[in-house]
Amino acid sequence: MKSFYTNLENELHKLDEQHLFREMKIVQGASTEWVEIKGKRLLNLSSNNYLGIANHPMLKSAAIQAIQQLGCSATAARLIVGNYELYDQVERDLARFKNTEAALIFNSGYMANVGIITALVGKGDIIVSDKINHASIIDGARLSGAEILRYKHKDMVDLERCMQKAEGYRRKLIVTDSVFSMDGDLAPLPVIVELKEKYKAVLMIDEAHGSGVFGENGRGLADFYGVSDQVEIIMGTLGKALGCSGAYVAGRKVLIDYLRNKARSFIFTTGLPPAVVASIQAAIQVVQLENWRQKDVLAKASWVREELAKVGFNLLNSESQIIPILVGGNEATLEFSRRLFDVNILAVAIRPPTVPPNAARLRLSIMATHSKEDLTWAVEQIKLIGRELGII
Ligand code: PMP
Repeated sequence: MKSFYTNLENELHKLDEQHLFREMKIVQGASTEWVEIKGKRLLNLSSNNYLGIANHPMLKSAAIQAIQQLGCSATAARLIVGNYELYDQVERDLARFKNTEAALIFNSGYMANVGIITALVGKGDIIVSDKINHASIIDGARLSGAEILRYKHKDMVDLERCMQKAEGYRRKLIVTDSVFSMDGDLAPLPVIVELKEKYKAVLMIDEAHGSGVFGENGRGLADFYGVSDQVEIIMGTLGKALGCSGAYVAGRKVLIDYLRNKARSFIFTTGLPPAVVASIQAAIQVVQLENWRQKDVLAKASWVREELAKVGFNLLNSESQIIPILVGGNEATLEFSRRLFDVNILAVAIRPPTVPPNAARLRLSIMATHSKEDLTWAVEQIKLIGRELGII
């Protein structure tokens, strides 16, 4: 037994030596524009609460009311007894919001990706996946037992090469993030749709960072590109722009019926608590009623990008509210983050394995509710420290 714990200790020590050991900090008011860590007030440039609605009064009162009426738990899997009328209503609302026949709620985006992919493909099938897709897509793909081909990030020539190789497999599933979570760039969905038609494949997109931000009233990037009807499987998360928790998949009724019967991460888990589901219902309304948030977040992000690009920061090809500042080394990235922390800015360092080796970065995420003054100040501080550290 002693050697077991010693081995764990050694592994952690190795991580520490590579500046990859992770600790969690306590963040007071994590969903707001200004947070507090160890008594220090910091501008929050690391939240996925892109629209700033996680504290919205409509979401909060919906959650409180649901607790009072229904209690704190679904108490069982949805297919057993954990299914209030509210849950079916919210799935109908999600389908209406996404303009699809039906929708299904999962407990998280991670569970949705793993559940959807393993339900739809297996041995004899093939998955063709963008190289930097989210870890939950990778895990779902591995678990499915299907063959996996990964194409170079957003490289449509490479995707076509993979599709040619995929000839002969029973079902071909192309899967991509719509807005890439660590690079902030956009999948070329119209070209991907063309290729999936040409090679008779099925397309799944992950709108975790597109929902609420892109497309009419925040319907997502597929809506923005006008290709929603040609995407068989659209999933998205509810814990980011929508300010709640959980995830959805939207599509044809037959797809949703199938997933309800086959997706193990849906079947074998207790449903989300009523408070969360009620807050999702309110969030769908708020996103549409207050669509100024969507315009604001994109306008503010594009201003920040321009300012940082002008002075020579490498922002990869970000086109969204997610703005990476590429640094490279783990230690240098941590130092950049620490120096910003010292001047009251929270910009978390993202290191491998979340990003590829030597591609550590700060990941800034902009909120609709960041004030222009705060962003202007933050940009100046980032430039100043970036120069001091020789990053620009
Ligand atoms: N897909 C993508 C693209 C993500 O960025 C994330 C969250 N980081 C997920 C899925 C997982 O979502 P959740 O946090 O709801 O599990």
